[in-house]
Amino acid sequence: MSGVEGLVALVTGANGGIGGAIASTLGCRGATVAFGVRRDASSARRVIEELTKEGHRGDHDIFTADVSDPGEATQLVESVVARYGRLDVVVNNAGITRDGLLVRMSDEDWEAVIDTNLTGAFNVMRAAARPMMKQRSGSIVNVSSVVGLVGNAGQANYAAAKAGLIGLTKSVGRELASRNVRVNAVAPGFIETSMTAALPQSAREAALGTIAMRRFGSPQDVAVAVAFLASPDSAYITGQVLVVDGGMTFA
Ligand code: NAD
Repeated sequence: MSGVEGLVALVTGANGGIGGAIASTLGCRGATVAFGVRRDASSARRVIEELTKEGHRGDHDIFTADVSDPGEATQLVESVVARYGRLDVVVNNAGITRDGLLVRMSDEDWEAVIDTNLTGAFNVMRAAARPMMKQRSGSIVNVSSVVGLVGNAGQANYAAAKAGLIGLTKSVGRELASRNVRVNAVAPGFIETSMTAALPQSAREAALGTIAMRRFGSPQDVAVAVAFLASPDSAYITGQVLVVDGGMTFA
């Protein structure tokens, strides 16, 4: 057995661009994937159909929860453990943006982004830590952003949440390391998903000009980095932030 084969992995935001690619990659490599979705599960369902068609026969299923709600996040983890009897990998990928300059940012836009991108990951990690500690193994991968490392005008809420997620990753990594539970983060740059498709052409061109490799990233570029951190191939790596940005920040 190598990589993530045979592991049980929960991916939040698995109905989205990056989350779908992560779930698909883990499934293709032999993991059983619990697709965490907030409401709409249509594209998660499509990914499961593709995995099944291609003969990747993990017992994949969809689990609905709003991760920003502590009760729902706890229930999500408990349902996955009840269903599969263990939990080896958690990928905290669910996230939103509510962009705006600081002076015009509403309380609602600040809170929504912190509640989903930071508190959501905290809620899921707190629930997942117990079964993982009991198993004496586990890997948690948090999807942060380069914006959490270098900031971005118009994204104070998002940058604060993603920077907070890095602090959370390192602190919980220290807490759980002795139980063989690893906690790492990936920090993607500009990745082509619905989140970035909404940006005006001028903003896309400006962003492209900052990327040394002169191309935007794909969800798959992020997924393979997550799969590495999820798997025992990274058994001696914890508390790290793996930047996946094609040379945008050199952070
Ligand atoms: P996306 O909008 O396609 O996916 C986000 C997913 O999160 C969606 O499926 C959405 O339903 C889910 N979600 C949102 N709020 C939720 C909640 N409260 N509970 C449960 N699920 C919830 O966007 P994406 O680009 O695939 O983003 C995935 C992650 O990658 C996010 O955390 C995002 O911040 C991060 N990221 C994206 C980029 C990029 O350029 N696209 C760059 C860096 C980091």
